[in-house]
Amino acid sequence: MAQVKNVREQIEFLKALQVLDKEIHLLNKEKDTFPEKIQAIESSLETKKTGIKEADANLKVLQIKLKENEISLQQKEEQVRKLQLQLYQLKTNKEYSTMTQEIEGLKADNSLVEEDMIKLMDGIDDVKKKIAEEKEIFKKDEESSRKEKDVISARIKEIDSKIMQLTAEREKIAPDIDKRLLASYEKVLNNRDGVAIVQVEGGTCGGCHMSLPAQIVSEAKLKDNIITCGSCSRILYLDDNDEIN
Ligand SMILES: [Zn+2]
Repeated sequence: MAQVKNVREQIEFLKALQVLDKEIHLLNKEKDTFPEKIQAIESSLETKKTGIKEADANLKVLQIKLKENEISLQQKEEQVRKLQLQLYQLKTNKEYSTMTQEIEGLKADNSLVEEDMIKLMDGIDDVKKKIAEEKEIFKKDEESSRKEKDVISARIKEIDSKIMQLTAEREKIAPDIDKRLLASYEKVLNNRDGVAIVQVEGGTCGGCHMSLPAQIVSEAKLKDNIITCGSCSRILYLDDNDEIN
């Protein structure tokens, strides 16, 4: 670190700046968690929507099957009616019994189709009920998701205005700090989780907690030069009333 004048005073400015920067850092960190949270809310809602879409598709398949059965039933009933009319025009007993058998066969087919149709209608009722229930649940989920997102938006606004306020306070202190010292403080701030200046605590760095050489501790207390931690590069200080060990 280049020679800095008035180290004692500079340390005090940095300490005041650190209080603000720590808070700004925590607020930014909190803000960074929101995009992921919003995405989780939206994708969970999207999954539920997919479930309803699948049930809707399932319903359409059943409805088409039912329609097909209806048409097939109508056609066979029409056939039965035609055959029954023809029955009276037949000349021989053999012809009559062959056609009667054919009619009976068609009627038997029809009752099978009718059974299928009843099952299909039951199935359709079940699916419709399920869709209605799921839509009701989805509506509630959508509402609660909206509320959750509103809470997040409100918090983001709050954070932004707090950061603006802290930044303005920061601007009052920053010009008093040596430019090169401020630049290196800010670099450490960004690399070390928002903490760039720390107190020496029982002979260790208050940031990374590594043991410090006694020489470094004494120099940090002396405040003739800017002293940094050899492990984490944070600026170290020890106030006059603080014990060295
Ligand atoms: Zn350290």
